[in-house]
Amino acid sequence: MFLAQLPLKGCHSERSEESRSAHRNSKQGKIPRFARNDSLRCRRFAFMVLKDKFGREIHDLRISVTDRCNFSCVYCKSADPKNYFPHGDLLSWDEFLRLSRVLAGLGIRKVRITGGEPLLRPGVVDFITQLRQIDGLEDVAITTNGYLLPEMAAKLAAAGSPRVTVSLDSLDSAKSARITRTPRSLEKVMAGLDAALEAGLKPVKVNIVLVRGFNDDEIVDFARLARKRDIILRFIEFMPLDADHTWKRELVVTAREIVAAINPVYPLIEIPRHSPSETALRYRFADGQGEIGIIAPVSIPFCGRCSRIRLTADGKLRTCLFSMEEFDVRHLVRNGATDSDIGRFVTAAVYQKESGHRINEPDFVQPDRTMVYIGG
Ligand code: SAM
Ligand code: SF4
Repeated sequence: MFLAQLPLKGCHSERSEESRSAHRNSKQGKIPRFARNDSLRCRRFAFMVLKDKFGREIHDLRISVTDRCNFSCVYCKSADPKNYFPHGDLLSWDEFLRLSRVLAGLGIRKVRITGGEPLLRPGVVDFITQLRQIDGLEDVAITTNGYLLPEMAAKLAAAGSPRVTVSLDSLDSAKSARITRTPRSLEKVMAGLDAALEAGLKPVKVNIVLVRGFNDDEIVDFARLARKRDIILRFIEFMPLDADHTWKRELVVTAREIVAAINPVYPLIEIPRHSPSETALRYRFADGQGEIGIIAPVSIPFCGRCSRIRLTADGKLRTCLFSMEEFDVRHLVRNGATDSDIGRFVTAAVYQKESGHRINEPDFVQPDRTMVYIGG
């Protein structure tokens, strides 16, 4: 049984406290005994689908390609992190590609590249080009803060036009600078959005994390933007994954509040999701001028339909954003594991995927690894 082969040993590193604690619960990848030279077994994975013990099929992989970021958004990263992973701890592009191939053989169909800020890592464009060539991968997307899009959008288009999501949390320059803790961030991100649209990277989505008291007064302004520009806006509820541990339930602006703010000004009509596992509730404006989405993990959890797993920049597999433990695939990759070994390890890990996040439980505990080290 796969589960019996999962080692339970913790993994320790030499880094700073926040980084070390992110690893405390990591299950180290060891090569299962039975699989050594097994191309036949490997081929068998081509017909497999990753499934957890609740019967959910896993088709989506989010890869955080770096823990570095040039912004320090208040809801994500600490203002002054001193715990970046040493470069040698980050998976190389070849390692990411190998894992992506193995996972595509196990039924992964979509890859979203995230971070930290993914466009900061040199080589990301080539990585996208190569991801595009993996059999079975139908969709490649990237989530970025947009800062580097003016210089990179055309290159991304040439690399096969991944779907692009840009994060933008205020339309007011001073406020955006306060949220991202980066001067002139709004101007840079807006230039990035323009560049993405000009390069033909369609559809362009925009993610807005709403934090009460920071930007909830801009909901209607954002709706107006969605009507004016060729973009799909998605409001996201603030989740307890911030490095500063400032999350409080009262700071969450709920889906219901968002609809209530927009509806009287621009009436909304709910429309069906593209797929059952899609995270966003979708609405179109009643007059046909654009659409918005709302991702409401706190007030309307969608865990029962979740189809996602995550790979961190340092090679840990996470079966949930809120996982309290993670699975060390880097150890496997760097210690002679065959593709089949990796496939078995991942299959066993995915089987244990949590039934759901526990944000709304009284004994909820925020995981040690914060959003910038997981990738949203
Ligand atoms: N740096 C890129 C960016 O900002 O788009 C990619 C990484 S970022 C971690 C991915 C997404 O997670 C962003 O859209 C960001 O707004 C979102 N995010 C970060 N912290 C969050 C939190 N505490 N709650 C909800 N969403 C969050
Ligand atoms: Fe960086 Fe993105 Fe986190 Fe902002 S949300 S700090 S841009 S990783």
